[in-house]
Amino acid sequence: MKHTCKICSPFVPGRGGGESGPLSSDEAASNERVGNLRVTPLRAGPGRARAAVERLKLWQNGRTLKVRFLDGDAAVQAKVRAIAREWEALANLKLEFVASGAAQIRVSFAEKGFSWSTVGTDALAVGTQAATMNYGWLDPDTELREYQRVVRHEFGHALGMIHEHQNPAAQGQIPWDKPKVYAYYAQQGWDKDDVDFNIFQVYSEDSTNHTGFDPTSIMEYAIPDALTVGSYAVGWNTEFSPMDIEFMKRQYPRAAPAMTELSPGQRLSAELATAGEVDEYRFLVPEAATYIMSTEGPSDAILTLHGPGDRGAVISWDDDRGQGSNARIVRKLHPGEYWLTVRHKQPSATGSYSVGVKKRQSPRRSPGSDTEN
Ligand SMILES: [Zn+2]
Repeated sequence: MKHTCKICSPFVPGRGGGESGPLSSDEAASNERVGNLRVTPLRAGPGRARAAVERLKLWQNGRTLKVRFLDGDAAVQAKVRAIAREWEALANLKLEFVASGAAQIRVSFAEKGFSWSTVGTDALAVGTQAATMNYGWLDPDTELREYQRVVRHEFGHALGMIHEHQNPAAQGQIPWDKPKVYAYYAQQGWDKDDVDFNIFQVYSEDSTNHTGFDPTSIMEYAIPDALTVGSYAVGWNTEFSPMDIEFMKRQYPRAAPAMTELSPGQRLSAELATAGEVDEYRFLVPEAATYIMSTEGPSDAILTLHGPGDRGAVISWDDDRGQGSNARIVRKLHPGEYWLTVRHKQPSATGSYSVGVKKRQSPRRSPGSDTEN
């Protein structure tokens, strides 16, 4: 099947290509964008909370990504470049194609029969001379629609998108006939693990920012009727779907709310206006003291404290220690620069809240009101 994306696989650290391990991949993601790091409180028994740290792979909003071709025909490169740059209209990112020097996205055509890309910031964990993206069957005569399908799709991965059929909302939506799916992809050299990883494995709710399942997404594979139970099929998508456009505009918004400055003693009202939104606040601690950071309002907010001096580092997080379902962190802080991030506990929910930070008054004057956590 010429049109099949033979291995169109999210990059798995340790499964080839990467010279550095999974740790650097996670670090790279959170250093790139603080909202990539999501700390999800899980109840592990009566009164005991633990955190699951999950990471998105999005690039810093507004940045320029350098793209370099490692090899390939100039005419093919030009077509790939033109289609890849369509993403600039959807996402608040610039793709700067460079002929030499460092580049975050490195495109090769060397591996024949395989088209794939790393997902988002996973590219940073790949050795600096190795490809992060490969096109296995594009040549100067390939029809335009095929260029559009595969280049839009692979650059979608490069900007952090996963396969649409692996969207958590796709769980149970596609009536796969699993034995037939294994047999079908085996003809193309995929083993069971490849199929499980690329087709059946669905991401967890908290590691994605998706809402509904969208069979028209550019990130969806074709699903032949023969591979499903009953009558269900999805054709090859070559266009961006309305949900793709909406999704990428949300992940890389042009009118990004700039990081808000917060002063100790101040409380600000804000809105988690879109699903998956992470609001970020910066504040400065002038002198060592115990600080109380909290959210108020109707939203079940999760508050995470980052720093000092490193907005990717997590000091503490809280879900429900405040009033109602609000979050509250009480912490001794040394002088320096700190960040608070606020997000909704339910990835698809929105709502208003306020966030504040204040220095705790002498504990003797308000006995027992606050405890370290
Ligand atoms: Zn893919």
